[in-house]
Amino acid sequence: MNKAVYIKDFLQAFEAVVPERLAYDWDAVGLQIGDINTPLTGVLTTLDVTESVIDEAIEQGVNLIISHHPIMFKPMKKIDFSTMKGRIIKKCLLNDLTIFSAHTNYDRVNGGMNDRLADRLGLINREVLVEEDSSTLIKLQVFVPNTHKQMVDQALINMGIGTMGDYEACVYEMTGTGRFQPTEKANPFIGTSGAREAVEEIKLEYVITREQVSVALATIHSTHPYETPAFDLIPLLNTGKVFGLGRVGDLTESLPFDQFVERVKSIFGLQGVRVAGSKDQVIKRVAILGGSGEKFVMDALKKKADVYITGDMTFHPTQDAEALGLNIIDAGHYLESVMKEDFKQISQSIFTKKEWDYPIVASKGHTNPFRYK
Ligand SMILES: [Zn+2]
Repeated sequence: MNKAVYIKDFLQAFEAVVPERLAYDWDAVGLQIGDINTPLTGVLTTLDVTESVIDEAIEQGVNLIISHHPIMFKPMKKIDFSTMKGRIIKKCLLNDLTIFSAHTNYDRVNGGMNDRLADRLGLINREVLVEEDSSTLIKLQVFVPNTHKQMVDQALINMGIGTMGDYEACVYEMTGTGRFQPTEKANPFIGTSGAREAVEEIKLEYVITREQVSVALATIHSTHPYETPAFDLIPLLNTGKVFGLGRVGDLTESLPFDQFVERVKSIFGLQGVRVAGSKDQVIKRVAILGGSGEKFVMDALKKKADVYITGDMTFHPTQDAEALGLNIIDAGHYLESVMKEDFKQISQSIFTKKEWDYPIVASKGHTNPFRYK
């Protein structure tokens, strides 16, 4: 029989795709309710956690809900079962459900919410709209005897080590001589206690991110033949991938504004959007930011966007954008609901890689409070 998979096993793999450290300090991401030491029965993905979403998870027989919006955003002072939140918590406890949220970390990560929105629009020459952070790069060098070079290198590559820009499996190797003298206490793979040895060793060099350090060291320790493998972690001044909210990029062809609005509606299946700006504006460069994006109008202007697509735009920031020549499409906060399918895909690829077989469902529930008349 297959070994049980625990919720924590799944979440560890999910963390590698959507790291928690990318969330803002004010956010409430990660485990919301539940016990990660419970065996996993399946995953349900949702934008928001409402009572009907909890019912859906129970009906589907899955015990892990991954949401974009956290359920416990503000600290609670009491749990009153007559309120919606109280009822949700009660149902989770009674049905042994776990809720986990990936919010601003998913908004900011490369390949996350904003890249997936930009993918759907087909934006090319893409940049981060609000550049906030970049990954710290580290040079990993590990010294291995020639006999084990292939094995250590392949194991590291299999764990995603050695990715530089659009290139994978990047490694530099150099041959040298390692000298060592095992002490009386040592149990050496090569040589004998008390005698100085000289071994031809290969130095393998990789560029890794801070998030990859623990997986790289665990891989080295499990594949390297030496009792005490020699390796170095050297911090670099080279800048890694830029992180931040929103994306800006070009359409492959320019479109009149009205036509572009229709295209946005059809791509995202929207019944209606609110628009501002000149009808005559020709749209080529597009900025998009899922969620509430009115604070970032100036960023869209700085990046020379012709139009800015976001949600929750209010009166004055929209007026300001229009006056500065930036067209606006307020597609609503619910635009983010595309993440239900995206989280499902991420989960599916984790399951495939790990050879796990559990149901993964995107919630069918509609959590948009707005209707279009
Ligand atoms: Zn949101």
